[in-house]
Order: sequence, then C-alpha cells, then structure tokens
Amino acid sequence: MKTNQSATVGEKLQTAAFSFAQKGIESPRLEAEILLAHLLKTNRAGLFARLRDNFPEEKEQPWQDYIQKRLQNWPHQYITEEEEFYNLPFRVTPAVLIPRPETEELVTIVLHHLEKMKPPQNQNPQAVTIIDVGTGSGVIAVSIAHTFMTKSNIHTKTSDKKSLQIIAIDISPEALAIAQENANSNQVDHLIQFQQGDLLAAPAKQGRGEEKVHIIVSNPPYIESNTIKSLQKEVRQHEPHRALDGGPDGLDLYRRLIPQAAQKLHPQGLIALEIGYNQGQAVKELLQQANFQNIQIHQDYQNHDRIVTA
Ligand code: GLN
Repeated sequence: MKTNQSATVGEKLQTAAFSFAQKGIESPRLEAEILLAHLLKTNRAGLFARLRDNFPEEKEQPWQDYIQKRLQNWPHQYITEEEEFYNLPFRVTPAVLIPRPETEELVTIVLHHLEKMKPPQNQNPQAVTIIDVGTGSGVIAVSIAHTFMTKSNIHTKTSDKKSLQIIAIDISPEALAIAQENANSNQVDHLIQFQQGDLLAAPAKQGRGEEKVHIIVSNPPYIESNTIKSLQKEVRQHEPHRALDGGPDGLDLYRRLIPQAAQKLHPQGLIALEIGYNQGQAVKELLQQANFQNIQIHQDYQNHDRIVTA
C-alpha cells in the first residue's frame, strides 16, 4: 500500500474532487483541477501531464489549505486570486467582485462605439474620455485600455495618452488598490486615472472638472437587497455585498447615477450600463426621464436583458 508521501498528483486530484462532490460543490473535478494547477504553478494541460508524478511534499500543507477554503465555499478565484476577463489576467481578492463573462459584452459595446468615434475624433486633437463607474477589480477599464492600445498602431505610451483617457472610480479604496495593480500588470496604467468617489458625485477635479466625457460605462450593484440571501453560497458568503446590493428594488444606483451621467456626458456621448435580467424597462424609463435618446436593451448569451445603452 502506498503511504501518503508517495501519493501521486492524480490521486490528490481525485481525493479533492471527491470531497468537493460530497459537499455538493458544482463541477467538483474541474474545481479541483483549477486549484491544483494553480498550486503547482501550471495550467490544466500541464496538470494532466503530471498526473503520475509524485505529489511534492512541501505542497501538502498549502494544498490542504486550498481544499479547506473551497469546502468553506470560497470561490476558487479568491483562493488562486486570479480570474481571466477579456483574455487578460486579473488579480481578484474578496475586496472586489469576481468578473462575470456577461460583463465582457459591455466592454465590446464600448469598444465598438470607440471605433465608430475614430474618424471625426482623428481631426480633433482632444482625447476621448471614458469613465468607468464602480470599477472594482478594474476589469472594464483595463480591458478597454488594453484593446485600444493593442489595436491602435501607436506604440509609444505618450501618443496613447493623447488619444484616450480613462477615469476609473470606486468608493472602495481596497478595490482601487486592486484595480491599480491590474492596470500595472496589464501595462495600461498610463491610460487610466483612478479616483475614489461615490458614483459621479465628487470625482476629484483634475484641473478641468467641467469638461464633458464621451463614454460612461458601469456595472453597478443591481441585486435586490432581499434576494442576496438566495444567491449561491460562494457569492453570498464571500463576495462583497457592497458590490452586489442595489437596494430594495435593485435600482438605487441607476437612480443616482443616470441623472449625474446626463450632466457629465457629451451630447453625442454614450452611456452603457449592465443591468439585472428584469430591469430593462425600469432602467429605460430612468434614462428617458433624464432625456437620453436612442435607448437600446441588449441581451446576453442566455437571452436575458443584460445591458442598456443610450
Ligand atoms: N466593474 C467591476 C466588474 O464589472 C465591478 C462591478 C461591481 O463591483 N459591481 O466586475
């Protein structure tokens, strides 16, 4: 019989997947693979290549810690402190929401608009300004900046800066620290200015505070307060409620943000908001009340209303 010391990577994986399954964790095998690959500093393909190797003894304690955390419903992203978004790596901690794939569409919509703005904007020496409200881990701001930087054939940091400026706002200083880190690691920190603030209420004025912005994008908290308790355990127990809770009907932040955005936005500007699947009509009305035109509701890959633009 094999002693514990000579257990293989494959056996460790099997045991962890089994205890995750017993706990009722969804996709237990995949969860175990993600965690073990991270622990062994490889990816899942690399892990499969090592299934017959002996499990390194010095990894035993950290592996037990990973398993314990996962059994306590920690999302694997908070254990590995990483998640991919828009094909880019991001650091996430319990100070920030884990980015969701639905939000990638919000980025695509903004990039599309940015693309359309280019011809007239080229003759205009003024930079395009985008505000990401409630930036959290910074995924929206960073992936817009990164795509812009790689697509525009301009490779020097100074010319990027002249043509795009992103302001990323969050109320949480802990979130801003993570967002800043993600901007640095993805090499777009020169394009993004981070500011602490409550929505658009008091962004620290960088000289010309009255200047209109071209795009306002936000994935604000939009869950109804009393439905938070029925969310998945991983979400409810470990993700920041401040990033989820949108008040009694989930619409509190839109009610405050939309009128502020109407003041701050260029007449030809774009607002793009992520919304809950049942909030399309209500958010549309809030936009109408603030005199926004050309309001469109976009569906996600599950055919739920997910984004509103105007
Ligand atoms: N903007 C971040 C994201 O889309 C955070 C959103 C939030 O915390 N509500 O993931």
